[in-house]
Amino acid sequence: MPRQTFAVIDTEALRHNYRMACDLAGTAKPMAVIKADGYGHGLVRVARALAGDAGRFAVACLEEAELLRAAGLEQPVLLLQGVHEAADLSRCETLGLEVAIHSHQQLQWLADTDARPVLWLKVNSGMNRLGFTAAELPAIVPGLADAGFTLRGMMTHFACADDAASDRSLSQTRVFEAATAAWPGLWRSVGNSAAHFRPGQPLYDWSRPGIMLYGSSPMIGQQGPEAGLKAVMTLQSRLISVRTLAPGDTVGYGDSWRADAPAVMGMVSIGYGDGYPRHAGTGTPVWVRGQRARLIGRVSMDMLAVDLTAIPGAEAGDMVELWGANISVDEVAVHAGTISYELLTGVTARVPRLEAGTVAAVSR
Ligand SMILES: *Cc1c(COP(=O)(O)O)cnc(C)c1O
Repeated sequence: MPRQTFAVIDTEALRHNYRMACDLAGTAKPMAVIKADGYGHGLVRVARALAGDAGRFAVACLEEAELLRAAGLEQPVLLLQGVHEAADLSRCETLGLEVAIHSHQQLQWLADTDARPVLWLKVNSGMNRLGFTAAELPAIVPGLADAGFTLRGMMTHFACADDAASDRSLSQTRVFEAATAAWPGLWRSVGNSAAHFRPGQPLYDWSRPGIMLYGSSPMIGQQGPEAGLKAVMTLQSRLISVRTLAPGDTVGYGDSWRADAPAVMGMVSIGYGDGYPRHAGTGTPVWVRGQRARLIGRVSMDMLAVDLTAIPGAEAGDMVELWGANISVDEVAVHAGTISYELLTGVTARVPRLEAGTVAAVSR
């Protein structure tokens, strides 16, 4: 019998969140960003669940797109980082992948190849991570067309869209508009998840939601359910031991938690070896028997301790939700000093991903 530590994936919630992205995107269409193993939910599972609705996917790199094609998924796929060597361009053409070009080195690779994959150009509108400036584009675009490349679109990425108080997205939008104005026939793509929640933000032809599809809020200080999103992953395990503690008893490595009154303590079979964050300290919420309880002491590799004093009847075998529909991954991320993206993508290979309905759910 396996130890009952699972990441349960609710593809209905995924589709709900995608439909919400569509509603928020207005006349733009969202391409589903499914890089990093579908943000830890399983690349092919996520792609299959969205294939009927999302006309287009975005991944970081060729290796991820190869997995989609090997699984028989034929939708257009955009490689957000383009290729990492010249030889990959012909593979992209063969697989029908669209390649974002962001650097002069990549332009040189295009000049050196006979392959003609479909291209996008990445515009640096101020994030200064990747892309060409507006001033560079007039020297690049005609050359690509002359060389026989199909240029499908221009894209840019926002640095501060998650901060409702920042107007950086507006200034980046102005730069992008000016940079792309000379080529009205090309698609334009802006908009990570957060941009969908910014009133008045234009999303042009294609937006690129990622984290919101998985039910986590892209906005600083907000949790997914507050934004109308549904958690797709439930990370769950079970109590494997329950004991009573006397005042003064300590729990775990470093004696990092001490009972100051009689207490009931349970051990859950999940730890940082599963991707549960070790930086989540005492007070981080967990869900047991339909109630919130709190983590106590230091997270171990394979287990963690929870305070069950206020949960009468809790016993070994009880299911525990670490994050999911009852405990937002966004809330756990705050306790761990990180963001939901890191927690979701950090669930390790030891944790089986199961479809919702194939395993007993945590009681609500
Ligand atoms: C990852 C990524 C996205 C999606 O961002 P979220 O914040 O997860 O919505 C969009 N565009 C680019 C270029 C990305 O790298």
